[in-house]
Order: sequence, then C-alpha cells, then structure tokens
Amino acid sequence: MTKKLFYENPYITTFEAEVIEKGVDEAGHPFVVLDQTAFYPTGGGQPHDIGTLNGVKVVDVETRDQAIIHILEQPIDAVKVKGEVDWERRFDHMQQHTGQHILSAAFAERFGFQTVSFHLGKEEATIDLATQTITEEQIQEAVHLANTIVFQNKPIKTIWVDEKDLSQYPLRKPPKVKENIRLVIIEGYDYNACGGTHPHMTGEVGPIQVIGWEKNQKGIRIHFLCGFRAVKAFAEKQKVLQTLNRQLSSQDATLKDAIDRLLEKQHELEKALGEAEEELLKHEAAELYQKARAMDGFRLVAKAFVHREITECQKLSRFILEQAEQTVVLFTTKEGTRLHMIASRTKDVEGDMVKLIESGLSLINGRGGGKPERAQGGGETDLTAEGMLSYLVDQLEGQRVAN
Ligand SMILES: [Zn+2]
Repeated sequence: MTKKLFYENPYITTFEAEVIEKGVDEAGHPFVVLDQTAFYPTGGGQPHDIGTLNGVKVVDVETRDQAIIHILEQPIDAVKVKGEVDWERRFDHMQQHTGQHILSAAFAERFGFQTVSFHLGKEEATIDLATQTITEEQIQEAVHLANTIVFQNKPIKTIWVDEKDLSQYPLRKPPKVKENIRLVIIEGYDYNACGGTHPHMTGEVGPIQVIGWEKNQKGIRIHFLCGFRAVKAFAEKQKVLQTLNRQLSSQDATLKDAIDRLLEKQHELEKALGEAEEELLKHEAAELYQKARAMDGFRLVAKAFVHREITECQKLSRFILEQAEQTVVLFTTKEGTRLHMIASRTKDVEGDMVKLIESGLSLINGRGGGKPERAQGGGETDLTAEGMLSYLVDQLEGQRVAN
C-alpha cells in the first residue's frame, strides 16, 4: 500500500519514492505505483494533481483497487524517483475545495440549505443546494459568514476516527465509508467526513465570492470562486468596469445611469429611424405609382428588386395600394438563390393573386399562398427576379384574358 504523504502533510511538494509496480494501462499509457506519494488522486470532488517524476510528466493520478496509479507521459526505468507536485494547481484545489466546506456550512448554518453535490471546474466551482428558493440577501448573508470564518483564520484539523466515535461529532451528513473515517474539523463551525486536501488555517482559503446562481433539477446551483481565483476575477471585472467608465465618461456609481440613458437614447433613435424609413418608403410608393403601367382596365406597378427585405417589399406594396384605385402591385426580390414574389391588388380589380403566385411557383421549387387580393410565395431557383417578374406580368395578362 502506498503511504499518502498528502495526508501527512498537504504542503509537501517534493519527495523521493521507490517504484513498487509499473506497467501500461488498458488505454496504452505507462504508469507507476510508488511506496509513497504526495500526488493526490482524483476523489471526493477534488481533481488529481499533476507534476513530474524524475522529470517525466505525471498527466493523471487515480486510485484503482486501492493503489494510487501515476499515469505518465513516457515510461520510467528508474527504481527510485524524485517527485515534484505542481503546487499552483494543488493550492488552487485546496482553496476551492476548502472554500466549499466553508460556504456549504454557511448555507446550512444560516438557512438549513444542505449541499447535495459539489463540482470543482477549471474556471469555477459549483454547489447544488437542496432548496427550491433562495434570495440575493440570503446568498450575501452566507457569503459574509463564509468570509468571516476565513478572516477569523480558524485552524482546520484532520483526525481519523472509527464509526463508533462518530456520534461525538455534529456531522452534517453521514460519511460514505465505514472505517478509517477522516474528519475535517473547523472547531465550532464545521465537521465533515472528507478525503480531500486542506490548508491548516481557514485564512489560506482567501476571499470566497458567489458569482451567480440558477435553478436546476436538484434545487439551486451556486457558482463561486475562492482564493486566487476570486482575486483574479476581481481584477478582470475591474478592468471591464474601467473600460466601460472610460467609454461612457462615468464612474462605478454612475455607470448604471449612464447605460440606462444610452439605451433610452438608442430606443429613441431606433424609433426616429423607423419613422424616417417609413417616410422614405411612402415617397418611393408614390413614385412607383406614378410610373404605373396602364393595362386593360387597371394600373400595374411591377418591379424586381435584388437584396431587398421581404417585409420592406410588403410595406411598400401596402403603401401603394392604400392610395390607389384599380391597381395591381407585383414585386419580386432575390437574395442569393432565394426568390420571393408578392402579388396584391385593390378590391376594385378582378383576378386571383393566389393563382398568379401558384403559376410562378410552378417554375421554382417553392411554397406560397394567401387570399385573392394578396398572396406571396418563394423558393430556391436560378431564375432572376427580373425573369420571374416578366413571367408573372405575362400570366397576369393571360389570366385577365381568360376572365
Ligand atoms: Zn474536504
């Protein structure tokens, strides 16, 4: 069995050991088992350490059949090895993991919200709380208590106990193992069965900050950062704030008002722009109507567009017909390989616009429909907007003759 140096002293980063087993695992990766190790294997919500053995990279550390397996980038021949644990990564894990103990205890202590699961990710950590509701005030209260425990710099003790001794400790939930139970204790605050690595004092965890929360199937998921992650996040957010303040000539306290004003202004501009565009369309409608072709018993406004939005064409058609009498409007527009047709008429003209559109659709692979006075359709085709328009005009004349 491997001696777990990370339990004897979680601050050990270099050590010497003997290789007691080596081989290649099912996935083809070389591995070694040592007589003692400071490499923490994945477990209890804490990810594995990385580092080197005799300068060879340790890429993964796992527990398999009670043995701690060091997965290596290349095989090692030596019998004796010198190990080096990547302390930055390990200390980060210790901060997030211990911060989780402290934050979970704060939610349980203040509001009775038990933590049902924990995840330590690359960017952030999360806990799931067994509650259906939570308020921003409750979160801030728990965060405040958690940071108070950090600033009180309380000792974090680790002891090994048997199942029969457990009743002496106010554990929040029963341990998963029956023997060799490892208790992690923050005196007077939190008693937890845990196999992870923890610093000696709560102060080492550094600031604990909740950065968001949402509802999920398990209850409420809390996203949080501890230690250097929280410090780094503060610096990054500060940078974003400074940039925004520079752009908006504001300060932190006035930034919200500056953004509100900006959004209001944008809303006004959009409204004004919409009105101006409508005016422009009305002018265009009047112009098109003036140039309308005289047909047998009605006036025809026909135009082919390229890259013109359908909704704009529809509006234009509506504006023409609003002022007109005995008029038919035919528009086609093409965007890439997509062709669209709009056919509409005033009530005092005969002719079925649906039939007209259907005749156009018979040329292309498309769909459409509408009412006798107003119909549209479109589809994918090589045919140009001009080509389709002249076809529709011919059809319209034919339809009239047939009527
Ligand atoms: Zn722990």
